[in-house]
Amino acid sequence: MKALTVRQPFADAIIHGHPRYGLKTAENRPKPIPPKYLGETILIHAGKAWHPLGKDVDWEQRPDARMAIIGTARLIGVHVDGGCCAPWGMVGYFHWQLADARPLTTPIPDVAGQLGLWTPDDDIQAAVHAQFLAGAAAKP
Ligand SMILES: [Zn+2]
Repeated sequence: MKALTVRQPFADAIIHGHPRYGLKTAENRPKPIPPKYLGETILIHAGKAWHPLGKDVDWEQRPDARMAIIGTARLIGVHVDGGCCAPWGMVGYFHWQLADARPLTTPIPDVAGQLGLWTPDDDIQAAVHAQFLAGAAAKP
């Protein structure tokens, strides 16, 4: 599974949603999604830095997960900005459309981010699978 590093508070907005605006289903990127990853589920990694625009989004409680894998989401499409995807879509970017956001019960900490879609090491992949398998087993 690939991973995408997103600065806070937007990583939390993708996985947990904003208290007022709900889930962030458009991620702004300067390039389109490589076609082979369309439809794929990816890991969402909260980066080290706070996004400078984060202060403009009115959070009741500032998300604190940093340098951690916090969940997964599926890449379902991409389009060029057309003044769409409010309030998340930004002018001049490709809007990567995300769906099926799924939080990890326990974020995987101490993970350094990278640019673009990147490949986490096997330990991280195994930890994600273990959590989701445990969650599935716990359901009636
Ligand atoms: Zn859009």
